[in-house]
Amino acid sequence: MPANHVELAIVGAGPAGLAAALEAKAAGVDAVVFDENEQPGGQIFRQPPASFRVVDKSRMGRDYTRGRRLLEAVAAADIRIENGVTVWNVAPDHLACYRDDRSWNIKSDAIILATGAYDRPVPLPGWTLPGVFTSGGVQTLLKSQRVLAGRRVLLAGTGPLNLVLANQLAEAGADVVAVLELANPNLFELMPMAMGPWELLFDGIDYVTQLARRKIPLMRGWTLLEARGTDQVEAAVIGRVDRDWRTIKGSERTLDVDTICLGYGLVPSTELSRLIGCAHRYDAQLGGWIPTHDRYRETSIQSVFVAGDGSGVAGSLVAMEEGRLAGLRAAWRLQKIDDSSFHHKAAPILKRLHQLGRFRTVLDGLSAPRPGLFERMTDDTVICRCEEASYGDCRKAVSEGAVSLMELKPSLRAGMGMCQSRICGPTLVEVVARLTGRPQEAIAPFSVRPPVKPIPMSALLNQDAAE
Ligand SMILES: Cc1cc2nc3c(=O)[nH]c(=O)nc-3n(C[C@H](O)[C@H](O)[C@H](O)COP(=O)(O)OP(=O)(O)OC[C@H]3O[C@@H](n4cnc5c(N)ncnc54)[C@H](O)[C@@H]3O)c2cc1C
Repeated sequence: MPANHVELAIVGAGPAGLAAALEAKAAGVDAVVFDENEQPGGQIFRQPPASFRVVDKSRMGRDYTRGRRLLEAVAAADIRIENGVTVWNVAPDHLACYRDDRSWNIKSDAIILATGAYDRPVPLPGWTLPGVFTSGGVQTLLKSQRVLAGRRVLLAGTGPLNLVLANQLAEAGADVVAVLELANPNLFELMPMAMGPWELLFDGIDYVTQLARRKIPLMRGWTLLEARGTDQVEAAVIGRVDRDWRTIKGSERTLDVDTICLGYGLVPSTELSRLIGCAHRYDAQLGGWIPTHDRYRETSIQSVFVAGDGSGVAGSLVAMEEGRLAGLRAAWRLQKIDDSSFHHKAAPILKRLHQLGRFRTVLDGLSAPRPGLFERMTDDTVICRCEEASYGDCRKAVSEGAVSLMELKPSLRAGMGMCQSRICGPTLVEVVARLTGRPQEAIAPFSVRPPVKPIPMSALLNQDAAE
């Protein structure tokens, strides 16, 4: 158990949290990073377990190599990372942590929440069949355990993760049948990307070129309509979509597959920023409800900062720059650096964020959910998997007067299961908005209560208090 007071507590050892720690440590801040994973790196730089031996590092891919550089810098700076620690409660001056059946509190003078994001769940007929995964889940299996989720794989959704994953699966020996991409932009819409930054543009071109070299069809303007099978996925019904992502009738086709990866973009993990009491706003392009913050990443609560995908999905390069800015600003708040030193160091980071922002705005615009995305559910499509509440159940509850997620809760128990609304919450915002004719921003998410992730009762009974 680490000491029970730190100057700066950082939640999340992904690109944002690690970059924040590097910057804060360089300014002389006593910073500690907490992460529930056994290894630092977050999603993109996810490491295999320490017990695995990586024989041929070149086969681990470009992200692994980039991640190693960041992890080596963190190791060289002697930054304290507490892995395997779930932060299950938070207040502006302390965190509650859990590891190895123990729970304890840590007081901190400043907090950076760099909690990342998770796959956006999109219910459609057959999505609960074994063999249907989220793309992030399949990638996690592959990256952390070197396990292939299936053999004959279809990827459907939108955004760059499916392109990356299709190549990784093919490289690992899967037969990738196709990548279905909802967005079908014209050249004019893509033009702003030509202004750079170049590394993102080259990454994109590289993913598409690799698919072509492997003869994996990239079907733009197509999507999954239904997963079919008895005990397991056996086929995928796919179809063409219009610009609103509504199905074009008559375009349906069936493909034989044993695995389907659903990758519809990401949803920011905002449990802790909501629990601590930060103000939030709705931004469809950045993934839904996100904490508001000033240009230096400080939230509506002084000395509480946010960085990375948890404050709006924007990718690992943006996450790192936001992390640096938050680390620097936290050092300024803790009076480790003065005004002029802060502004001198922050200026190039802000400039780089501005450049990266141009590219991301185009990508986000192409992949932000459009109306057709949530129209494939039928009355018996399950939305809340923990409590088995269906679209039909939601429709009935709304017709009886429910206009918010909290009003769905008593009748459906939606959001009360193990996932604590991570799966059903983002869909229910869309469904209730659509059924009531109100904008998404008028549909508040479920309220958050500790523990934000499931932890055993024995750990709570075994709790040490901060002094
Ligand atoms: C599943 C998945 C796969 C992805 N794959 C790719 C890819 O292949 N290529 C690509 O370019 N981008 C990928 N992305 C996007 C990319 O990973 C992110 O843009 C980038 O990692 C964001 O960095 P971050 O530091 O904000 O968050 P993350 O890298 O997500 O790190 C957040 C960390 O916070 C930890 N955390 C969250 N809550 C708690 C808590 N309560 N207690 C303790 N720890 C907590 C998490 O365990 C995680 O390690 C992926 C994203 C996801 C979700």
